[in-house]
Amino acid sequence: MPSGSAIRGSRVGAGPARPTERCEPAPRRPVTYWCANGHMVEILLAAEAEPPATWDCPHCGQPAGQDVQNPPGRQRAEPYKSHLAYVKERRSEADAEAILAEALAELRQRRGER
Ligand SMILES: [Zn+2]
Repeated sequence: MPSGSAIRGSRVGAGPARPTERCEPAPRRPVTYWCANGHMVEILLAAEAEPPATWDCPHCGQPAGQDVQNPPGRQRAEPYKSHLAYVKERRSEADAEAILAEALAELRQRRGER
């Protein structure tokens, strides 16, 4: 029957998705954001999608960014975490003392020469 095969053919062509596409989930990747209050937010994005620069933190509503060291939003929401605190995190106490001693020695040397 020619008409029967024509109907069958049109049904296959008009299908919303091929079976292989339906079985495979869209590739996704996790993107992690941090807000200024230290909350971590992990979202799943489509692999091809460009991640947004900021994501609203579901815990406190502050905008969250992908850089944990430099979250967006108002820094004064976390007054105890000053710039010095960040520096101290990156440098050990011994490092700080060594740098200070070096700077003082250089200063004394300059004063001595004059
Ligand atoms: Zn938050």
